[in-house]
Parts: sequence; C-alpha cells; structure tokens
Amino acid sequence: MTKTLVIGAGGVGSVAVHKMAMCPKVFGDVLLASRHIGKCNDIAQSVTKRFGAKIETAELDADDTPKTIDLIGRFKPDLVVNLALPYQDLAIMDSCLATGVDYLDTANYEPRDEAKFEYHWQWAYHDRFVKRGIMALLGSGFDPGVTNVFTAYIAKHYVEEMRTLDILDCNGGDHGQHFATNFNPEINIREVTAPARHWEAGDWVETPALSHHQTFDFPSVGARNMYLMYHEELESLIRHFPALERARFWMTFGDAYLTHLDVLQNIGMTSIEPVMYEGREIIPLQFLKAVLPDPGDLAKTTTGRTCIGNIVSGKHAGQPRTVYLYNVCDHEACFAEVGSQAVSYTTGVPAMIGATLMLNGTWHKPGVFNLEQFDPDPFMELMNKHGLPWQVTELSEPLDF
Ligand code: NDP
Repeated sequence: MTKTLVIGAGGVGSVAVHKMAMCPKVFGDVLLASRHIGKCNDIAQSVTKRFGAKIETAELDADDTPKTIDLIGRFKPDLVVNLALPYQDLAIMDSCLATGVDYLDTANYEPRDEAKFEYHWQWAYHDRFVKRGIMALLGSGFDPGVTNVFTAYIAKHYVEEMRTLDILDCNGGDHGQHFATNFNPEINIREVTAPARHWEAGDWVETPALSHHQTFDFPSVGARNMYLMYHEELESLIRHFPALERARFWMTFGDAYLTHLDVLQNIGMTSIEPVMYEGREIIPLQFLKAVLPDPGDLAKTTTGRTCIGNIVSGKHAGQPRTVYLYNVCDHEACFAEVGSQAVSYTTGVPAMIGATLMLNGTWHKPGVFNLEQFDPDPFMELMNKHGLPWQVTELSEPLDF
C-alpha cells in the first residue's frame, strides 16, 4: 500500500487529492497537509462525500524544514507532492533529501523578493538526489507539465527534427467577476507582468510585458487574443531539445483583465517591493491577493473551456510537417466532477498522473528531472483515462507570425 503526502490545500491540491481518491489501486494512504488545517479538512470532507474515501489531514508550515521532516518521519510517505507555492520548493526538497523520500511539484522555485521563473536552483539538487537514491519530478502541472510531455510526444511520433515550438494557453472561461485570477493571484500576476522572453536563433529575446499579441482561433473556444510571455517550461525544453530554433509561449487575456491589470500596475499594486504601512512592511502584491476573489471560489460560477496545446514545425522523414497537439477542458464539467474550475483541474490531474508514474516505477530514476526527459507515452495514455483527453491535428503550414 503506497503512502503519499500532499502539501498545499489550495485549488490544485484539492483536485489532486480528489483524483488520487478516484485511483485507490495506486494511492493507498493520502495525507493532505497545509498551513491551515481547516482547508485540508474541507477538502477531506468533500473527498469522502464524493467518493467515500478517507484522507488524513495535518497542519504544516512547509517553510519550517524541521517540522516538515518530522511530519515525513511520522507518516513515512513514498512520495511528497508539493502543491503549496513556488516559495516552498527548496525547503520541501531539503526535507525530502533529509528523509530519503521522492519529490514532485508543479512550479519552479521562486525567491519571494524577485520574480525569476528559473530552474537552476532546483537543477542544482540533481547530484544530491542521485547520491541519496531519490527522484524529483519538476513541474508536473499543465504548463509546465503536459506541455513538456506534448513536446516529447511530438518529437517521438510526429516531427523528429523539431525547428519551432509555440505553446498556446487559452482560458476561454468566464467567471462573472470584474477582475480575478484563476490560480494563486500573487504567482499569476508576477508571471503576467514579467517581461516577455522567447528563444530565437540560439538566444533569449526579451520584449516588454504584453507588448506582442496575435489572434488565434482555438478549437472549441473560438478566436482569442493571445500575448507573448515568458514561461518556465521554455528553459527546460530548450535545454532538452537543443535543435529548436525558436520557442515561444502565448497566453490569452481578455480586454477587461488587461485594463484592470494596467491600472493596478500603474498605481503600484502589483509591486513585490515592500512598502511601509502603519508602521509595518507590506508587499502590495500580497495585499492585492488578499482583496481579490479566492480562485477556488470562482469554480461555482465559471463557464466555458480552456484549450492548451503545442504547435511544432520541422521535418518528419525529410518532409516539412506542422502539428498541433492540444487538450480542451470544460470548467463546468470539472466542477461537477471534483468541485473545481478547469485551471486547477488541468494542473491537479497531471500532478496525480506524474505521482502515479513515480509510484508504480514507470518513471523512476534517482536525480532531478523535467517531464520531457521520460518516455511521454505512458503519461499521454493516463491523460486520456483521467479526464484530460487530447487531440492531434496536422496543420497545412507553420504559424505565419
Ligand atoms: P493556492 O494559493 O490556491 O494554494 C496554495 C496552497 O498552499 C494554499 O492552501 C496555501 O495555504 C498553501 N501554502 C502556502 N504556503 C504554505 C506553506 N508555507 N506551508 C504549507 N502550505 C502552504 O494555489 P494553487 O493551488 O492555485 O497553486 C498551487 C501551485 O500550483 C502553485 O505553486 C502554482 O504556481 C502551481 N500551478 C502550476 C500550474 C501549472 O500548470 N504547472 C498552473 C497553476 C498553478 P493558505 O491557504 O494557508 O495560504
């Protein structure tokens, strides 16, 4: 019987433990630990009500490494699934090293005082993980995560000489709020307001945030404006597929979202520089998070679909080829199944799938890895089984922008 410790009782953590409860053959005992035990208990209750399964809960501040080591020592998990915030990644990896337990997360480590979206802090753990005989799987969400697996799958089956990669992330959902983010607002706004960066001809090209956009007709969603951004999977994909001549990431935003963001940015509310307020330091972006809707609460009212996928051009058997591999996910269907919206769902399900492949030994070797370093086929099979079916279509020509 396996034991899994999940840390972080937010939108993604909730989906992951619901889906684990739906796979009792893989996931034996599950312990959900987070900063506030009340949130863990609410999720545990929902899991029992929906699937009759029992999960354990605990209160844990994962920034506190000795306490995390103590909890791991008492529960003795086979795997720690980190679904807290990127700030906790290194502390939890240290706890895994100390106890000899495997590790998985969905977002790269971020220092609190600078938005970087870089893997080097976590890649630097590779030799120590090898020496300890344990594995870390980095970024097992949708993007990063599925988009890395999609790239490996296209390279394996469709375009053996990849030249260009475009990752297109569209949330065509409507939550009925003037302004809200569909995952942790602090992390989301840090990502969106960072300068855009893409890979071209052997180097990174940086452009101002949200300065380039294109219209794209997304399957099952329709035409949307998408903006060039930097996203962390570009760094690992460039490293593991060095023949790529260009790699870009695009995300859709509606006009109302961008107008609100513009105002918030202009008045300094998105800053991560501390300011003094009534004798104490506060970080404007963290205060903004406190007044924005909780992404978890948006699930009840969100309608529409997400469509996230990769377009890759290159050559196959010597002939030019362009393919588009994508998943469409319906917000209301996710809510009906596990009580969450599609952005949490499309992250929590790949976390559960990555955990499955580690626990059953399909993807298992000592060291620190990104998803594209493993055979993509078993992951792709499990996506079809667990609520994230994908489609692949051939495009007549490469993207012309
Ligand atoms: P939420 O803010 O909804 O949840 C985060 C949870 O972690 C909260 O319950 C929070 O507790 C808890 N937490 C925060 N700090 C600590 C700590 N020190 N110790 C223990 N628990 C802590 O975020 P999401 O669920 O939306 O996102 C979870 C992760 O998934 C993030 O890292 C995010 O960047 C990543 N993500 C990845 C995506 C992908 O496609 N790869 C897409 C979307 C998200 P509290 O409630 O007390 O604050």
